[in-house]
Amino acid sequence: MSDLTQCVVTPKVPTEGFDPLGVAIHRGSTIAFEDAAAYAARGDRGDSGYAYGLYGTPTTRTLEEKLTRLEGGCRSFLVPSGQAANTMALLPFLSAGDHVLLADTVYPPMRDLARNELVRMGVVADFFDPTDLDDLRSRMLPETKIVWCESPGSTTMEIMDIPAVADIAHGGGALLGVDNTWATPLNLKPLTLGADLVTEALTKYVSGHSDVLMGSISVRSAELAARIKATIGRMGIGASPDDAALVLRGFETLGLRLRHSEAVAGRFAERLARHPMIRRVLFPALPSSPGHALFKRDFLGGSGVFTLTFPDRVAPHVTAALDALKLFVIGASWGGTRSLVAPMTVAANRSATRWIDPDITLRVSIGLEDENELWDDMQRFIEALANQSRRRRWFDT
Ligand SMILES: *Cc1c(COP(=O)(O)O)cnc(C)c1O
Repeated sequence: MSDLTQCVVTPKVPTEGFDPLGVAIHRGSTIAFEDAAAYAARGDRGDSGYAYGLYGTPTTRTLEEKLTRLEGGCRSFLVPSGQAANTMALLPFLSAGDHVLLADTVYPPMRDLARNELVRMGVVADFFDPTDLDDLRSRMLPETKIVWCESPGSTTMEIMDIPAVADIAHGGGALLGVDNTWATPLNLKPLTLGADLVTEALTKYVSGHSDVLMGSISVRSAELAARIKATIGRMGIGASPDDAALVLRGFETLGLRLRHSEAVAGRFAERLARHPMIRRVLFPALPSSPGHALFKRDFLGGSGVFTLTFPDRVAPHVTAALDALKLFVIGASWGGTRSLVAPMTVAANRSATRWIDPDITLRVSIGLEDENELWDDMQRFIEALANQSRRRRWFDT
């Protein structure tokens, strides 16, 4: 073989006996076939076979399998972001003339999707109060194909009665989909509570290091899996094996990271709930939270993301006071090792419910820093808030 040929014909070395604990990164677009007959029969390789890189490599399949087992599902699919997972959980089941119902508190890009892409497809979307089963019942139509939920709700943290919502959806012939990003498959298992589809933004807690974007869709049945597989294949959507390897690495510490963040968030939430500069702490793990009973019934644990609302006189100073923070990072994609805060407005993303607190909230994600240093930083923010509110009042009078 000439040197030029040897440059491209890769020799096989033995892999037997090499059993690392980590998952190898298998990259590939082309899959080589033994002979022409094997190539011609590639379509018969079935769901677990390999025919083309877009449809999975051993690395992405490993992550899918781990998710399928933890979700208690039948099959999982990886897509390049959490939002892509939500989109691809809906699209295979919607055609012109169909109707979808979304919880009023879903991840805001889902509202955007419903109001733009779904409208262009001729699909009508409506929103319902996530804490009012009668409201959901009254909005179900014969054309309703999917009820889409997120529990707790994005930013405002309402807990939904998933088994009851599943009964209503199924009673009307609709599927139930749940975005499970806050709880992760460790702390809530929507498929075992009656959901048909569950999505995760692996970008957040599961990967856990703020360095990768990925999403997953897990389904209850082979029939649903076939629909999703066909649509994402036709649309040419696949996930990178390198990114899947990052998610697999983060996955190994998910349980410990969540347990830590949940415990610290719980202590912060209790202290902040008593603070005069705070109006409400939205966090279902707090015993005083409106969704706490359902949380105790359905969830196996919580996570480290909660939201603060502020009294009227304090709210206008939240944005400026954030600059007092030295350890918390101001940023959006929570669930990483660094603690984050993000000011969030709510009212513009509500149509079936009314938002009554001042329209600036602070979403907090507790990471892995030293708890005392983090609390000192939170106090710096609250002191800045108190100073600015005081100064403002003095100028006013
Ligand atoms: C962040 C997030 C998503 C989207 O994840 P990306 O990977 O950033 O697209 C979806 N749902 C929820 C609840 C999220 O918090």
